[in-house]
Amino acid sequence: MKVLVVNCGSSSLKYQVLDMDTSTLLAKGLVERIGIEGSVMRHEKIGMDKYIFEAPMKNHKDAIGYVLEALTDKEHGIVASMEEISAVGHRVVHAGEKYASSVLITEDVMAALEECIDLAPLHNPPNILGIRACQELMPKTPMVGVFDTAFHQTMKPEIYLYAIPYELYEKYKIRKYGFHGTSHKYVSMRAAALLGKDYNDVKIITCHLGNGASCAAVKNGVCIDTSMGFTPLDGLVMGTRSGAIDPAVITFIAEKEGIGADEVINILNKKSGVAGISGVSNDFRDLEEAEAKGNTRATLALNIFANRVKSFIGSYMAEMNGADAIVFTAGVGENDIGMRKLICSELENIGIKLDDEKNSIRCEECIVSKDDSKIKIMVIPTNEELMIALDTVDIIRNLK
Ligand code: ADP
Repeated sequence: MKVLVVNCGSSSLKYQVLDMDTSTLLAKGLVERIGIEGSVMRHEKIGMDKYIFEAPMKNHKDAIGYVLEALTDKEHGIVASMEEISAVGHRVVHAGEKYASSVLITEDVMAALEECIDLAPLHNPPNILGIRACQELMPKTPMVGVFDTAFHQTMKPEIYLYAIPYELYEKYKIRKYGFHGTSHKYVSMRAAALLGKDYNDVKIITCHLGNGASCAAVKNGVCIDTSMGFTPLDGLVMGTRSGAIDPAVITFIAEKEGIGADEVINILNKKSGVAGISGVSNDFRDLEEAEAKGNTRATLALNIFANRVKSFIGSYMAEMNGADAIVFTAGVGENDIGMRKLICSELENIGIKLDDEKNSIRCEECIVSKDDSKIKIMVIPTNEELMIALDTVDIIRNLK
C-alpha cells in the first residue's frame, strides 16, 4: 500500500510517498514560495538526483498539481498513475478537543478543523487548503487527518486546565493542548520497542528539541503531560520563542515600550529564546561556535535552554513516579552531543547517567546511557511522516 503524506504551511508544502508494505520511502519533496513570486518544487525520487522545477504556483492546488505530475513522471515518478496511491495522510496542527486520534476526513471533520482556526490561525488554514486541494485533484482517494494535538488529548483536567476562571475555559476553550504529538508518539513507541518493553507498561519522557521544542510524559502508552500549552509558545525555551514566562511581563513590556500586547507576543515568538538571549542565532551550531570563541551570552543561552529541559525531566519524573527512559529527538536532540551532555549532567543521583562515548553519535537510534543508569537515555530520530503514514494505513485498513 502506497501512502502520500502531505504537510502544508502557509507558503510551503512538504510531501513524502511511502510504501507501507515495506515501510520504505519512495519519494519526497518540498514546494516553497506558493502564492509568491519564485515558486519552486524540489522533488527527489529516492536514489536519484533532486529534480528542481520552477513555475508560478498561485495556490496550494497548483502546487499539489505539480507534485502529482512529478510523482507520475516517467523519469522522476514512482507510480504510473495516482490510482496506485491508496490514501493521503495530512498533517493538521490543531484539532482542539474534538479528536484524540487520527480520523478519516469527512465534511464533519473539515467543519471541526474550520472551528479550530481561532486556536491555530497560522497553521490550520493552510492545512485545510492542502486537504481541499488534494480532494479536488484526487476525488476518489481517502484522506486521513493526523493532528499534532491528538496524542495529548489523554491529559487529565488537572493537567490541562489553567487556574483561571473556569468560565473562560468553557467559553473559549482556553486550556493546555500541547503540540508535536505525532513526534512524541512516534519516538515513545520506538523507545518501548528498543527497550523490549510493552508500550502499555512503560514510562517515557520524550524531549523533542528542534527549533520548536517540547517535552512530554508518556505513561503506559498515553501522554499524561506536555510542556507546550494553549499555543506552541509555552514550556521550554526555544530557538526564538521564550517558553513559559510570568504573564505579567507582557503588559509590563507593552507599557514600557509603548507597544501593544500582540507586538509583545510577537517578540516572545520571534525574537526571544536562545536567539534573544545570545544575540547570535537560533541555530545551536552557531551558538556553540560562538561559545568556543568566548561569547558568554551564547554560553548563557545554552545553559538556560538546558536548565529548562532538566526542570521538565524532573517534573515529569515526579508526575510519573519515575521513568524508564528519556528520549532525545529532533534537530538539537538528535545531533547536539554537547547539549545532551549539558542536560544530563549532574542527574546521577536521580538515576540518569550519560555515557560520553556512547553519546558521541548523531542521528541514529541508540541508547546513550551507562549500563548501570537506572533510567535509559536514548536518541531516536523522529519520523513524523512515517507516523502519519502508519496512522493512515490503520484507518484505511479498518474501512475495509
Ligand atoms: P524545526 O523542525 O522545528 O524547524 P528541527 O527539528 O529541524 O527544527 O531542528 C533544527 C535545529 O536543529 C537547528 O536550528 C539547529 O539548532 C539544530 N541542529 C541541527 N543540526 C545540528 C547539529 N549538528 N548540532 C547542533 N544543533 C543542530
